[in-house]
Amino acid sequence: MTTVWTDGIERVVISAGEIADRVCQLGRQISDDYRSREGKDPRGRSLLVVGILKGAMPFMADLVRALDLPIEYDFMAVSSYGNGTSPGEVRILKDLDCAIGGRDVLIVEDIVDTGRTLQHLLGGLSARGPATLRVCTLLDKPHRREVEVPVDYAGFVVPENLFVVGYGLDYAEVYRNLPFVGILKPGYIRDG
Ligand code: 5GP
Repeated sequence: MTTVWTDGIERVVISAGEIADRVCQLGRQISDDYRSREGKDPRGRSLLVVGILKGAMPFMADLVRALDLPIEYDFMAVSSYGNGTSPGEVRILKDLDCAIGGRDVLIVEDIVDTGRTLQHLLGGLSARGPATLRVCTLLDKPHRREVEVPVDYAGFVVPENLFVVGYGLDYAEVYRNLPFVGILKPGYIRDG
């Protein structure tokens, strides 16, 4: 029997259709919330949506197209030193191209787990003096939090014991391009 790269998937946890519906809802909610701030920036600048690479890429691409607002977008890349399934130290690999002083900024994340990545990002970005700084994450694991972080918009809550892949989320850099969020068969996860 031939093996295919999706053989490692145990089951789908959130389908592509469920993701698409939720992204539309989030787009509407975020658009409504920020519409009231349109024109508030004295220099006429629009909302800056900041995607956190690499995991937020598919979510970010769909979310920005669900926003009925003028926006700009940029990306940051962070790495956390750790093994495949547990987090470690946070390091910024790519910073924003523009200054954010006085601007409305929305961070887009793939998943908030312990909260350490987001805490590090929020600390650095809030020191640059944005007018507002909010967070939108596709997935949230609130029961795994080690530090308190504000999550303004969350797509789905994921059970704390699940390590999920797909729609941007990887295991050893693979599975990011799955159109759904799923879990791997135990035999496909190496220890350490
Ligand atoms: P933090 O623990 O700092 O909130 O999250 C750190 C990073 O761990 C996330 O950005 C994500 O890359 C990774 N992570 C946390 N939970 C999962 C998960 O269930 N699946 C995958 N693929 N990555 C996760």
